[in-house]
Amino acid sequence: MHVHTEWSWDAPRGHMERSCERAIEIGLPALAFTEHADWALVHEGQHSVDIVGYLDAVERCRAKFKGLRILTGVELGEPHLFPRETAEVLAAAPLDHVLGSIHSIRIDGELIDASQFRKKEGLDFPNAVREYFRETLAMVDSDQPFETLAHIDYPKRYWVDGAAPYREEDYEEEIRAILASAVRSGRVLEVNTTRGSILCPDITVVRWWRELGGQAVSFGADAHQPDKVGEGFDLATQMVQAAGFKPAKDPMALWRR
Ligand SMILES: [Zn+2]
Ligand SMILES: [Zn+2]
Repeated sequence: MHVHTEWSWDAPRGHMERSCERAIEIGLPALAFTEHADWALVHEGQHSVDIVGYLDAVERCRAKFKGLRILTGVELGEPHLFPRETAEVLAAAPLDHVLGSIHSIRIDGELIDASQFRKKEGLDFPNAVREYFRETLAMVDSDQPFETLAHIDYPKRYWVDGAAPYREEDYEEEIRAILASAVRSGRVLEVNTTRGSILCPDITVVRWWRELGGQAVSFGADAHQPDKVGEGFDLATQMVQAAGFKPAKDPMALWRR
């Protein structure tokens, strides 16, 4: 439920058709193409998805791969900071799967993507991570129309060498506040497998999610190229089951408590 293709600015090796072929090859019944809709200009060449062209490409794939359910979607970057742009992209067509994500936060007045934290000299890393969670809470608290909260602990993918290891418990208050807000707004928690390398979030947070009343979980590999589609799902599904969510009968459906 979280795949990027050539329609995302940061996926030069992305390929929608080959991602469909890959899904069929590994037995995935469905996938959602959730291209980046980013407006915070942090990286060179960053731009929002050409939604009209993208929807055309999805239609071509639906015609070609009849046995595969292909969902449309976008990954909104910091939508609460860009409400007008968000409304514009969502007005193009009703989309099946809309993700809300924080990638970038403001530090000393400068917008910085958490993937670049390690390059910023003298950064107070735990404080930056707390700031990341503050921004995530602001997004989830907002009335922006996304159903699924993507990669809640994204900075841990880019943990700084030499820093003390990431422990959910160190940020428990911040994470629980985000989860509680997501419960109130009926949102879905994504378990992002980071292309097979790391579960984002892991079981501690999924257990908190259940404890706080979270209803549903979705799975996304965040693939940026075809061979990463569905990567890490064996581990992720076992973990989510161990945290108390049940596999859905319909393979398209979310997993619920
Ligand atoms: Zn993302
Ligand atoms: Zn993504």
